[in-house]
Amino acid sequence: MRYLHHLGFPVTDCHALPGEVDENFRLTTPGGEQLLLKVSPPYANSAQLDFQQAMMEHLADADLPFATPLARERYRIDSPEGPRFFRIHNWIEGRILDEVNPRTPALWRSWGETCGHLCRALVTFDHPAAHRAYKWDPLQVLDQQALAEYFNQDQKILAEYFFTRCRDLDVSHLRHSVNYNDAHEHNLLVGDDGRICGVVDVGDAVYTATLCELAIAAAYAGMGQADPLEAFRELVAGYHLIFPLEEAELEVLFDLIVARLLLTVTTAAENARREPANRYLVVSQAPAWQLLGQLRAIHPDLARAHFRTAAGLPAHPGRAAYRAWAATARTAPLLSPGGSRFVAMDLGVGSTDLGPNRNFESLPTFTTHVRRHLEDHGADVGIGGYGETRPVYTTDDFASTGNHGPRWRSVHLGLDFWTRGAGVPVHAPLAGVVHGCGIDATAGGYGNTILLAHTPRPGLTFYTLYGHLSSDSLEGIQAGTQVQRGQEIARIGAPDENGGWPPHLHFQVMLDVLGNGFDFPGVAYPEEAGVWLGLCPDPRTLLADPLPEEVPHPDPLESLLTRRRQRLGYSLSVSYHRPLHILRGSLQYLYDHRGRRYLDTVNNVAHVGHEHPWVIEAARRQVGVLNTNSRYLHPQVIELAEALTATLPPELSVVHFVNSGSEANELALRMAEAATGHRGVVALEMGYHGNTTRTIDVSSYKFDRAGGQGRPQATQILPLPDLLRRHNLDPTPFLPLESASFIGEAILSCGGQQPLPDGYLATVYRHVRASGGVCIADEVQTGLGRTGSHYWAFGLQGVVPDIVTIGKPLGNGHPLGAVVCTPQVAAAFATGMEYFNTFGGNPVSSAVGLAVLRVVREEGLMERAREVGKYLTTQLVELRAEFPLVADVRGPGLFLGVELCAADLAPATAPAAYLKNRMRDLGFLMSTDGPHENVLKLKPPMCFSRENADLLVHYLRQVLREDGCRC
Ligand code: PMP
Repeated sequence: MRYLHHLGFPVTDCHALPGEVDENFRLTTPGGEQLLLKVSPPYANSAQLDFQQAMMEHLADADLPFATPLARERYRIDSPEGPRFFRIHNWIEGRILDEVNPRTPALWRSWGETCGHLCRALVTFDHPAAHRAYKWDPLQVLDQQALAEYFNQDQKILAEYFFTRCRDLDVSHLRHSVNYNDAHEHNLLVGDDGRICGVVDVGDAVYTATLCELAIAAAYAGMGQADPLEAFRELVAGYHLIFPLEEAELEVLFDLIVARLLLTVTTAAENARREPANRYLVVSQAPAWQLLGQLRAIHPDLARAHFRTAAGLPAHPGRAAYRAWAATARTAPLLSPGGSRFVAMDLGVGSTDLGPNRNFESLPTFTTHVRRHLEDHGADVGIGGYGETRPVYTTDDFASTGNHGPRWRSVHLGLDFWTRGAGVPVHAPLAGVVHGCGIDATAGGYGNTILLAHTPRPGLTFYTLYGHLSSDSLEGIQAGTQVQRGQEIARIGAPDENGGWPPHLHFQVMLDVLGNGFDFPGVAYPEEAGVWLGLCPDPRTLLADPLPEEVPHPDPLESLLTRRRQRLGYSLSVSYHRPLHILRGSLQYLYDHRGRRYLDTVNNVAHVGHEHPWVIEAARRQVGVLNTNSRYLHPQVIELAEALTATLPPELSVVHFVNSGSEANELALRMAEAATGHRGVVALEMGYHGNTTRTIDVSSYKFDRAGGQGRPQATQILPLPDLLRRHNLDPTPFLPLESASFIGEAILSCGGQQPLPDGYLATVYRHVRASGGVCIADEVQTGLGRTGSHYWAFGLQGVVPDIVTIGKPLGNGHPLGAVVCTPQVAAAFATGMEYFNTFGGNPVSSAVGLAVLRVVREEGLMERAREVGKYLTTQLVELRAEFPLVADVRGPGLFLGVELCAADLAPATAPAAYLKNRMRDLGFLMSTDGPHENVLKLKPPMCFSRENADLLVHYLRQVLREDGCRC
């Protein structure tokens, strides 16, 4: 480096860093100290350098919770091009924010707080040189307008829209101060705790509107985000916490963000023409254009509502005035006055009023449920839905991709009036004028809609929306038509004219129409619910109709956790760092209390799919007829025994029904003892067979781990075969000499989805039988076609056990298990002591089991597991090729394991935990297992599709790139 000889001290390393104005270098001294050398351009303004120095000193004294730069030495060099200033700064540790992946809400918040701290510190600072015209001051944006000539046509149109807004921007009444003016991701450093720990480079500081500090940060934080508003909200909340925003500032924040983005694109266009080789100069151009495009689609008043909500203010400035007026408003009834009987209608995620797993795709059944609910309660109108989180909107019609994976607009903003049929007249509750009317023809949309504007007193205007109307409701009205209080304005529409819904009126109040004509969102994303519910007040306060009590909203997560901790067993854990509140299931999906749909990749209990309609129907029909024990003759229990044995080798012909996998294995162990006369058992390391005393005694997964008592004497353990590391592949040396029975899975589930080497079970079975033992195959996890090639996983090993235990999948969530054995074992067990099981094999369980077997057969689920499993495996193998962390992809059908390891195959436990929790945040339920908890288990409901596989792998790839997946 040509400047080194100017330094007054030796350096061992010098590394150039990017910079727009100064040349920057990281220096290392012989003592290992790191320093930053900043070399100003020739003829740099020394007043500016004085200003920077004064500001750095001011910040250093401000007791900030992050490091700021400070020049410890400054000197002037006379170079041939002119005088240059050298400044030696302290080196600030931390990772450049730009390199941090993922961007989390906590990081955005810290970013906002950082800006708040800078502003709070700098309001007490001033310097004459700070008062300058500087092109990176957002307030100077109009000076750059001429550069728009370098834009292409689309860019010109976009830029002109925003320049026009900036021309109207007046910030003269807002707070002004010296701003750091450059809080972007290349100037901020992040510590190990994920918070901002340092700020570098004060070269852009300028005296301007204080709010520009936040606007600049927001402009950068929003880039590259599917939902920039979320980043903005977090920044605003963080900033406001440290340095409270004024209401007037929130009015212009959107435009200042835009102004900063315009500076980026105009400067980039200019620089790209001047210096096409300098990548740093153009680095943020494309994302800035993209963000401008995204912001173009957001009404500025909506952005303001987001900012206000984040700052703890009402979403709309007119909310208090509306509330005061509504408290005393005298309105006319909305539906036919008199005579109508109303009942509360709960369509929330966990509602049983809604019937099983209903979403928009199953509207005909939904309609039946609505009608049945009204009839059951002798009501004409079912009411509810304001602020309700509904599973109805979790089809793809209501989905988009947010910053945290797929998301659904599930929070309802209006109040619904469900009627028994179409044609019910709707009245205007108060006088108004038609703001707009029309047909929203989207699937699940409003159909025919009217939107009225009301100005009940000067200075207060708000709007009411009437959706799902009949077609003739729109005849004879248009924007501007006057409407009187109590006037019949419409009739409730039938499904073919109302967007496909059961007949109902959607009534919504809005403080702002955000530029819309007749249409306005009726549902919101849960994370934006506060904003939208703030813009759309509760219609109940306005209505004169005799409304029933509101349905209470689900309990908050925290209170559930506390109550659960008090009353449920202390050894029961909750999945994920952020526990889930799951209220509904449908096939391969589970839904939380906020209507978020999760793809379940791990729940092999819901074998044919959560709440599969055939299974529910079978249980529902039988439960109302008979549910008693199996000591009476009943055809269903026998049919189930016949259907089960038909899937097994002929030797396995006698069935005992139980209620769980543990009970099945407990019984199997007793049978083995009865058949052999001894208690000795051989089992596999990391095997798990149940929660009863006897099954824990053969479960190394329990007795060898936390809280375990170690291996009981009567149990022998075969070391866990590990095909990846080629360990313990032959069981022979470990088999005991004394007589013992064997219990084991053909693929170890808790052991980390570990298939056994070919011939492994044949060797074990042969040895055990020769010693006088019997062999138990635990199919609790692996049975019913999950492996794709064999209905029972022991088939993979070419063996036939003496006893098979079946659990989880057989009842699809209903507690049902079975033990199937040979007649010889059954005879040995029939010692005279009866085996009676109060619930095992009852008619309801039997009906459920039969339905499950039927679905597996008729939906071809075993073939599906083979086909989709192969497809998913191919994609996972591609991930393995891309990411060294993915060490192994294994397992057949839809019983897969993905082992995560560092180089040298060391188990990567922390990345596995990170990945599982991140995937949960993105909408995918995954689980880890194995001796080191480093194996992802993939054993989804068998209806899991190729599209599900694509989405899963897409997000796995995203998370595997993140910092938490580094070893
Ligand atoms: N066997 C195996 C292989 C299992 O994975 C389990 C449960 N995880 C059981 C038996 C015990 O089943 P349950 O929890 O239904 O008692």
